[in-house]
Amino acid sequence: MHTVIDPALLDPSGPGADLVDLTRTICDIPSVSGDEEALADAIETLLRGCPHLDVVRDGDALVARTNLGRDRRVVVAGHIDTVPIADNLPTRLVGTGDDAVLWGRGTVDMLGGVAVALALAAELGAPGSAPAHDLTWIFYDHEEVDSALNGLGRLARNHPGLLRGDFAILGEPSNAGIEGGCNGTMRVEVRTRGVAAHSARAWTGENAIHAAAPVLGRLAAYEPREVAVDGLVYREGLNAVRIEGGIAGNVIPDACTVEVNYRFAPSRSVEEAEAHLRDVFAGFDVVVTDAAGGARPGLDDPLAAQFVKSVLATTGGVPAPKYGWTDVARFAELGVPAVNFGPGDPLLAHKDDEHLPVAQLAQCRDALRAWLLGG
Ligand SMILES: [Zn+2]
Repeated sequence: MHTVIDPALLDPSGPGADLVDLTRTICDIPSVSGDEEALADAIETLLRGCPHLDVVRDGDALVARTNLGRDRRVVVAGHIDTVPIADNLPTRLVGTGDDAVLWGRGTVDMLGGVAVALALAAELGAPGSAPAHDLTWIFYDHEEVDSALNGLGRLARNHPGLLRGDFAILGEPSNAGIEGGCNGTMRVEVRTRGVAAHSARAWTGENAIHAAAPVLGRLAAYEPREVAVDGLVYREGLNAVRIEGGIAGNVIPDACTVEVNYRFAPSRSVEEAEAHLRDVFAGFDVVVTDAAGGARPGLDDPLAAQFVKSVLATTGGVPAPKYGWTDVARFAELGVPAVNFGPGDPLLAHKDDEHLPVAQLAQCRDALRAWLLGG
C-alpha cells in the first residue's frame, strides 16, 4: 500500500502525469470514514507543494485556494472518505488504454473525482495556466457517516468564508454527466391511540392498529408529484418505512406508530413539506422527527448555465436531477448554486464491485479544465 502520492503524477508538462495512476494511488491509501488521516496527509503535502495555492487544514479536511484577483470564484469539492473496504483493495486495473476499467473501493465514490480535482488544482493557476475564475479546491472527511460529523459541515461552521463562491461543483459520481440539485427529505411519525383490553373481551377496548388503517390507505392512494424546477424534473415519494404497535398476542394495542418518509422536490421548503404532510394526514397526530431541505439545481444561474453548456459540448447528454440528498444542499444553504459532476456510475457507489471505466477520468478532467480556462 502507498502512503504518499508521487508529485510527478500531477505535473501536466512532465512525462509522469497519469490520471489513472493518480486515482489508483489515492484509492490504495485506505480512507474509510474516521480513518482519513493518511490520505489527508498525502493530499496536504501535494497541495503545499503548489506555490499558487493557499492551503488551510481543518481536521482531515483541506481547502486550497488561488488568489488571482478574478471577479468570480468557483468551488470544486469532494469527500476523501469511503465506505468500509470489502476485500476490494488494493485496486485492480483490468484491460488497457481507454478501455481499461479500475476496480476497487473508492474508484466510483468518489476518489476518481478527487483525483480529477487534485490534478487540476496543481495545474490551474500555476505559471503558464490562467483560469478564468479564482478557484477553491476542497477535500473533506466524514461524508459517508452521520451528517453531524460531515467535514464540509464542519468547515462551514469553522471557516464559513472559505466556502464562499459563485458556483460549486461536487465531484460525486454522475457518469461524467451533470446532476443538479437534490430532493429534500422529511421523516414523520403518524400516531394513533386506542384503549388497551384483553383480546378475549375486545369490545371493552379500542384497537390503535386498526385506527392506523386510514393512514395506510392514504399512503397507498397517494400519487407522488413530478415537479419541474429550473428545467429539471424531480420525482417525489411518500412512503411508510416502518410500523410499530402491539405488546402481546392477547392484548388489544393502545398505540400504533407509522413512520413515513417524504422525499420532496427542491421547490418546496421544509416548512411547506411539513404543511403538506399535516394536510395528507389531517385528523392524525403527526410528529416530525427529521428533515433536510433539498437544493434547487440553480442551472439558471449564469455561471452554472455556462458550465452546463461547456461541459455538454464535450460530453454530450443533458443535465439530470439528483434524487438522493447530497452535499450540494450544504452549498445551497450558503447561497452557492451547486451541481454534481464526476466520473463513475452512481448506481455502483457503495457496492463491493464498484469499478470505473478510466476513460471517464480524462473526460471529466478535460471538460472541467476547458471550462475553467474560459472555454
Ligand atoms: Zn460520495
